[in-house]
Amino acid sequence: MKIAIPKERRAGELRVAAVPETVKKLIALGYDVVVETGAGDGSSIPDALYQDMGATIAPDAQTALADADIVLKIQRPLTAAEGTDEVALLKSGAVLIAQLNALSQADTVAALTGAQKVTSFAMELMPRITRAQSMDILSSQNNLAGYRAVIDGAAEFGRAFPMMMTAAGTVAPARVLVYGAGVAGLQAVATAKRLGAVVHGTDVRPATREQVESLGGKFIVVDEAMEKEAETSGGYAKEMPPEYFVKQKQVVGEFLKKADIAITTALIPGRKAPTLITAEQVAAMKPGSVIIDLAAEQGGNCELTEPGKVVLKHGVKIVGHLNVASRLAADSSALFARNLYNFVQHLTDKTAKSLKIDWEDDLVKGTCVTRDGVVVHAQLAKPAD
Ligand code: NAD
Repeated sequence: MKIAIPKERRAGELRVAAVPETVKKLIALGYDVVVETGAGDGSSIPDALYQDMGATIAPDAQTALADADIVLKIQRPLTAAEGTDEVALLKSGAVLIAQLNALSQADTVAALTGAQKVTSFAMELMPRITRAQSMDILSSQNNLAGYRAVIDGAAEFGRAFPMMMTAAGTVAPARVLVYGAGVAGLQAVATAKRLGAVVHGTDVRPATREQVESLGGKFIVVDEAMEKEAETSGGYAKEMPPEYFVKQKQVVGEFLKKADIAITTALIPGRKAPTLITAEQVAAMKPGSVIIDLAAEQGGNCELTEPGKVVLKHGVKIVGHLNVASRLAADSSALFARNLYNFVQHLTDKTAKSLKIDWEDDLVKGTCVTRDGVVVHAQLAKPAD
């Protein structure tokens, strides 16, 4: 069976769905691997490194995809309405594994139900359970995004992070405030701490207190009573009532006024990101301070964030980079590629050296969006009439 790795074509995407190490492992599983020329350029991986591991290099996407049984991608394919119809290039009955953003991108899902009869798996829907951790792209990519948020914050900030005692006087440590202590937020706490900042973190889920403190951050509790009910059985945050935001604005707002860098990472699955920093609060921040809004892609946690831009408002730099993981493409590709390899391995019959999908498996049921062109995912399929 053949696995294809096409070049990513969405704007700003530098990652690639396989690295030489995973190509070698996919070949060891019994697959042939074809990589589109230049697919690794954004991650500093020349074609020759893939070839050294046994991959064939195809001159264009059409050639790479024409007879591929499995296609590994980072981003959902472009549709005809977006200019290039990447779905039309797939072989009939192909298996596509990528971050499809299936719950929010109805056009992508519709395209996968077309003539190609694609069987597709959305990696972002991987269940957050222990046995699926090695396939969890949200964790691998958000972890790097949390790190990069601090680095971007440090680059935009006109002062140093650590305290420095010099003959010319003392430089005070930077004060970093992290909203949301999930995967990205905790990595941001850890990274800011390593750089020598004084770090505060806050989250609606009380379980995160210990995690922030174990990384050397100080935790800000907004309202213990309301936070008791804030976590779903799946470990995610619930949408909080308006009273919570009023209290959060008061309590965390006091820390925000003193912060040099605020990093916001708060998300509610399937919803627009909650607004945690209002325009009025930005106006009350210190001039020269920086907000890094990692929720920019979901609308932003700060009212003044402009997704995809760095803007200056009331003397505060507000950074709304999209696809932050791609800003560390070599590492994020390597981790994403391993997540994909682990999933392919999970779907492979090692004796027959080919795909053997157990349709009753929780990881398959959790991620399969279309099967032979029919929408099957529980959160998307229409009930039969
Ligand atoms: P996320 O990206 O959905 O959200 C980021 C953080 O924002 C969360 O910690 C959330 O509680 C917080 N948040 C939401 N609304 C907020 C508000 N109004 N104010 C402040 N904070 C707010 O979260 P995530 O990083 O994907 O992690 C979600 C959960 O999944 C965690 O419990 C994590 O431990 C768990 N997880 C489990 C696994 C696994 O077992 N395989 C892997 C990764 C994560």
